[in-house]
Amino acid sequence: NFKLQIRNARKTYGPVIALENTSLEMRQGEFLTLLGPSGSGKSTLLMAIAGLNNPDSGAVWIDGKLATYLPPSQRDIGMVFQNYALFPHMTIFDNVAFPLRMRKVDAAAIKSRVAAVLETVQLGHVAQRFPRELSGGQQQRIALARCFVYEPSIILMDEPLGALDKKLRDALQLEIKHLHEKMGMTVLYVTHDQEEAMVMSDRICLMNHAAIEQIGTPQDLYFRP
Ligand code: ADP
Ligand code: ADP
Repeated sequence: NFKLQIRNARKTYGPVIALENTSLEMRQGEFLTLLGPSGSGKSTLLMAIAGLNNPDSGAVWIDGKLATYLPPSQRDIGMVFQNYALFPHMTIFDNVAFPLRMRKVDAAAIKSRVAAVLETVQLGHVAQRFPRELSGGQQQRIALARCFVYEPSIILMDEPLGALDKKLRDALQLEIKHLHEKMGMTVLYVTHDQEEAMVMSDRICLMNHAAIEQIGTPQDLYFRP
């Protein structure tokens, strides 16, 4: 009874093996981190789960249903990337409201849900500004808000704090943890920062050379003899 299952996923780019017969299972509400060096296949695995880049073979199951060939829009998955990817011509309010408008949520509900999630990331006061008027850290908090606002049951984050300095990273790590505890979605998080993985995760999945080398709690991986 898993929230998310990947079975024997394999992906190649010409001669490059990006993902080698990789299997992974996640429980509902779990915070799992993929930790590994650049080029180890983390993004490839995330994209396969999101449906943005299908594996050559293998299967993805969401809520016990085969999802390998479902379009991304039918997977109930939210994503946050390293580069924020806010819409530059939209206000912060409209950026965060966007996924709700796509889902035909009514205007009153949009107003209250956007206000609530902006409060959660402590940025209610910038609702009428544009992304270029915000710092990098603020923009990334808005990107988080835009993902959490429609409450996808699975959230994939690809090095969401990679572009920020150490102080901001620490603060946002806490905010992401709080959001996760408050809303309880299943989170698959990508980083190459071991400390970050240890602070945030229920379990860590160590990736290297297109494969999962080890998986376990931070305790299992780093503190047991
Ligand atoms: P990570 O996210 O761990 O940095 P990636 O999944 O991005 O790793 O990449 C895994 C391997 O696949 C790397 O060798 C990378 O260069 C290669 N790769 C990823 N995407 C492409 C692509 N679109 N075309 C060719 N090679 C790719
Ligand atoms: P990350 O390390 O966070 O995965 P990358 O810089 O490796 O980010 O990859 C960014 C984008 O470039 C991804 O969409 C990936 O698929 C693509 N990419 C990565 N490596 C290659 C490659 N060797 N050739 C073509 N595209 C690539």
